Amino acid sequence: MSELNSLFCTEEHEMLRKLARSFAEKELTTEVLDKVEETGVFPQEILDKMAKCGFFGIKIPQELGGAGSDCRGYVAVMSEITRVSGVASLYISSPNSLAGGPLLLSGTEQQKEKYLKPIVTGEKVLCFALTEPGAGSDAGSVATMAVEDGDYYILNGRKTFITMAPLSDYAVVYAKTDRSKGSRGITAFIVDMKQEGVSCGKPEHKMGLIGCATSDIILENVRVHKDNMLGELNRGFTNAMKTLDTGRLGVAAQAIGMAQGALDEAVRYAKERKQFGKPICKNQAISFMLADMATQLDAAKLLVYRTAYMMDQKLRASKEASMAKYFATEACNEICAKALQIHGGYGYIKEYKIERMYRDCRVFTIYEGTSQVQQMVISGQLLK
Ligand SMILES: Cc1cc2nc3c(=O)[nH]c(=O)nc-3n(C[C@H](O)[C@H](O)[C@H](O)COP(=O)(O)OP(=O)(O)OC[C@H]3O[C@@H](n4cnc5c(N)ncnc54)[C@H](O)[C@@H]3O)c2cc1C
Repeated sequence: MSELNSLFCTEEHEMLRKLARSFAEKELTTEVLDKVEETGVFPQEILDKMAKCGFFGIKIPQELGGAGSDCRGYVAVMSEITRVSGVASLYISSPNSLAGGPLLLSGTEQQKEKYLKPIVTGEKVLCFALTEPGAGSDAGSVATMAVEDGDYYILNGRKTFITMAPLSDYAVVYAKTDRSKGSRGITAFIVDMKQEGVSCGKPEHKMGLIGCATSDIILENVRVHKDNMLGELNRGFTNAMKTLDTGRLGVAAQAIGMAQGALDEAVRYAKERKQFGKPICKNQAISFMLADMATQLDAAKLLVYRTAYMMDQKLRASKEASMAKYFATEACNEICAKALQIHGGYGYIKEYKIERMYRDCRVFTIYEGTSQVQQMVISGQLLK
């Protein structure tokens, strides 16, 4: 176990980390990942193997089919998988975090049994639908409406940028049930994606994380039974914000994993590549860049593991999750940019891993709350 990990982690976390590392190195080969980039499709047989390893339910209780680990176990797996493949990590973050989170927080026993268990086994896919064309950072201003009609609610609206929407069986949809109450008039619903009135927009052509479709969800007079209301009426926004706290930890874990991958590539390349008769790492300009990258990465890891540790102790860690996401994702972007610079022209060529990492990490400072939104959360707590 590394010294840094031993500050926060147990042998059990270390075992999970090793399992994820060997999975990533054995299954997520260059050949597989190149094909994913080319076709835009992630292989089902690898998803099946991930499910078998328990990666879809790392921190979901054993009685619901999960591995029953905790946030540190989740960070260990997410970072090791992202070190090799950003897109692969999305398939793990969804059931554990954005999709599983709302159900774990507010689901009834029947809802957990019906919807959570099959996403842990990988039989079903669920997505998290909060963002709308007019409501991104200001998620409280969603315009999707849910109007009561006997035992049902009728949903109308449009969700945007929904990760895995075209692949999903169900969606957790946040809709206004009381227009006069702002974010306190939002309720969460579980919507069957195959049901009449539900459709998806065309998958977006993204800069990175290719191989995990993102699209709009269009809701036209969709009848949702009251049994599929998730949590209490008008309490949906609290559910979404609490889900995003652990979601942000997951993105921060992606960031430290990808930054580690980029640093590893940069160190290897700097030792190998010779110019002016010596390896480029013998130039202080390069070795100091590597020193800065390693220092930034360790600082990010400390913030991420501190947050995970606090969450595992059931301490409130909303500000800490925002700090971890803000710092780790900005650091990851800087580290990937420097790693590409160290590769020179070769870093710009698809054959080199850093080219994909540089594109994949760009969204980390954007989704699940932009860096500016994290600054709002952090400063909001300082100034209250
Ligand atoms: C690949 C991808 C996957 C996604 N997956 C999902 C998903 O599964 N489910 C889901 O619900 N959403 C998802 N999203 C949406 C994502 O969470 C939003 O894109 C994000 O929250 C930002 O919203 P926006 O794009 O509307 O930007 P905007 O909110 O319009 O922000 C534009 C810019 O203005 C800044 N800004 C806005 N308000 C302020 C302010 N008050 N002060 C300072 N700066 C401000 C922002 O920081 C940003 O730089 C995904 C997005 C992407 C790109």
